[in-house]
Amino acid sequence: MTATRIDGKALAAEILAESAVRVSRLRAAGTIPGLAVVLVGEDPASKVYVKGKTAACEKAGLNSWLHTMPADTPQERLIAFVKQLNSDPAVHGILVQLPLPKGLDARAVIEAIDPAKDADGFNYVNVGALVVGEEAFYPCTPWGVMKMLEHEGVKVEGAHAVVIGRSTIVGKPMAMLLLNAGATVTVCHSKTQDLPGITRQGDILVAAVGRPRMVTADMVKPGAVVIDVGINRLPDGKLCGDVDTEGVSPVASRITPVPGGVGPMTIAMLVANTVTAAERRAGIGAPGSRIT
Ligand code: NAD
Repeated sequence: MTATRIDGKALAAEILAESAVRVSRLRAAGTIPGLAVVLVGEDPASKVYVKGKTAACEKAGLNSWLHTMPADTPQERLIAFVKQLNSDPAVHGILVQLPLPKGLDARAVIEAIDPAKDADGFNYVNVGALVVGEEAFYPCTPWGVMKMLEHEGVKVEGAHAVVIGRSTIVGKPMAMLLLNAGATVTVCHSKTQDLPGITRQGDILVAAVGRPRMVTADMVKPGAVVIDVGINRLPDGKLCGDVDTEGVSPVASRITPVPGGVGPMTIAMLVANTVTAAERRAGIGAPGSRIT
């Protein structure tokens, strides 16, 4: 058996194309969806990420603004700026690129974002809605993984999903989305005992750790769907995920590559969330649904 590669790049392009259609509808109704991205400091990886995000917005016909601020920006100034974006009617989504430089309280900044413009889905209001199984802005990376599983026809309901990583950005919301979709979920982390013994039980295995190729073939159940969220830069400058893709491919049924897997989906879901925010403000779009 050799695992089928799940093409995140192609699916992300489809989602961006769908977003472009939704943007045309909004434009015809007099609304141009807009995403404001705030970048504080000079982190090189963050600069690359925000460039990708604003470029995707432009591709789908949204407005996007990149606001850069120096690393020594005081907390109050950053929060005041976020509040200014909250009251700007041209802005439908707000993203403050994380991590923030030392000395800035990321949680306080995220809580300053209007929950209706929280395109990243990190605000307590959206996190709470996710936990109770209501429609919300879900964090873009795990939400993109759910879209991949759906597109691939992977049966989540009743499956045992194992998530490695418990971060607020990926691991925890990933576990919650899988749980809401009817999976039996196990969350592993740095303190987990016998990690391979647990990961081998996963029909769906999601790795979100940040350790190059740590998931090896002996940790994977034969036929499992393996989702590699990790993005790690190797000493030679190349990117790799948290999964040993070559080693795991003969064991898994499907696998996401790095690059070209989850990464492009994260950006596509950010655009989709911003369009949804604009639709809600314009009174266009599907009503909320409840997941039990
Ligand atoms: P994080 O550092 O916040 O969390 C890492 C998690 O891994 C922690 O919960 C920790 O308990 C767990 N962990 C650490 N060592 C472990 C071990 N030996 N065994 C089991 N668990 C262990 O990282 P994050 O923000 O969740 O990101 C994880 C990875 O995903 C990183 O490589 C990051 O770059 C990548 N990422 C990718 C995207 C994307 O769009 N593809 C988005 C966000 C993050």
